[in-house]
Amino acid sequence: MWESEEMTYINQHVLNNLFYILVSIFFFYFLYDHVRFFQQKKAHQHVLLIACLSVPLILCMKYPIYIAPDCVHDLRQVPFLIGTFYGGWAVSVPLLLILLVARFMMYGYEFITVAVYVMMCLCGSLFSLFFQQLTRKQRLVASAAMTFLLAIAATVLAVAISDFQVTESYVVDFILVPPVAMLFIVFIIETLREALFIRSKAIKLEKMEVVSQLAASISHEIRNPLTVVKGFMQLMKAKDISAETKEQYMNIALEELNRACMIIDDYLTFAKPFPEKIETLHVERELEKVIDMLRPFANMYGVQIVATLMPATMEGNAQYFRQCFLNIIKNGIEATTNGGKVYVDAHADGKTVTIVVRDEGEGMTKEQLARFGEPYFSTKEKGTGLGAMVSIRIIEMMNGTWRIQSEKGRGTTMTVSFSLLEK
Ligand code: ADP
Ligand code: MG
Repeated sequence: MWESEEMTYINQHVLNNLFYILVSIFFFYFLYDHVRFFQQKKAHQHVLLIACLSVPLILCMKYPIYIAPDCVHDLRQVPFLIGTFYGGWAVSVPLLLILLVARFMMYGYEFITVAVYVMMCLCGSLFSLFFQQLTRKQRLVASAAMTFLLAIAATVLAVAISDFQVTESYVVDFILVPPVAMLFIVFIIETLREALFIRSKAIKLEKMEVVSQLAASISHEIRNPLTVVKGFMQLMKAKDISAETKEQYMNIALEELNRACMIIDDYLTFAKPFPEKIETLHVERELEKVIDMLRPFANMYGVQIVATLMPATMEGNAQYFRQCFLNIIKNGIEATTNGGKVYVDAHADGKTVTIVVRDEGEGMTKEQLARFGEPYFSTKEKGTGLGAMVSIRIIEMMNGTWRIQSEKGRGTTMTVSFSLLEK
């Protein structure tokens, strides 16, 4: 049996069918990752899923594993069920229609096909509600098990409503191969989904990390004014104190409290989740905010930040912009030791605004420089290795350009340019 060409259970066509499905999955994720439109709404994603899955659905039917008198055998149920499990009825119903129309145009009308796939569509859509709640690992098992159960149910249905013959090749190609294929394909889908998810969350993850790293220096910076206030309060408790001195102490205490408030405000505006809107940015003001926020951190390292900022305006998202330069300047501070300086320069000329962050710190070797911006590359004990990557992603998102120069022992210069906003 295994030798004869048309009766081989696992033949070239099985692999072809799998190949159509895999290519379409990669195509889906490629488009999903590169075209913003598909990420905006669930409905857009569903349209893409239907379009991408209907191709292997049709190709599987067009190049089946084998054709028996009462049925055509191929892996079409795999793309159909993938769409059903991941998209629910909104994807399943259109795929069902495409499947039935294609089947009848290619091989003629068959009632069993309608009965089997309507049943799969109904059960699969119901199952989808449950499937969406599962974890990655559970999805692998659940999708394979459900595919198997549906194949059994389909067989029972076919035998009940017609004189359908259950052959050996039918058992292999319709009941046994699809759950295995499903396991394999759901694994690939879940891996791709996770990779995209992590990438899309990198900016936010890194922000959380920076926020927690800055917390120590911020609380230190707030303790100072509070200690001053406490001291003056104690002084004021003394009885023999003139109204004039009291007034003076009060003013100093208030000033210190204001400073503490300002530090907390800066910190909180950064820590909050931010709206994703494009606005007019005043480069010098945004950089000033970033530098203010980093001052406590720089003090902790004994580093001075020297800023020379020319006014300039550009378009972009303020929070992203701040995070971008926060990471870059923070790296500069971390590379510099006591008494060193980090220079931040912004100047506009012609059509571009150029921001230069220069430090006289430890610098990078050629190898380190080559890996700059690579995710998880860090030479620091508590580093995330995400800061540089996030900064670069943000610069590219805002259509900017960047260049880094570094010499071991000499320091590092990061140069970033953006288009100026035309007035
Ligand atoms: P992290 O700061 O968490 O280590 P980053 O992505 O911000 O991660 O930076 C990656 C690596 O690049 C750092 O660990 C460091 O080795 C190097 N680097 C980045 N900026 C500088 C700089 N200004 N001077 C020296 N090395 C730097
Ligand atoms: Mg960093």
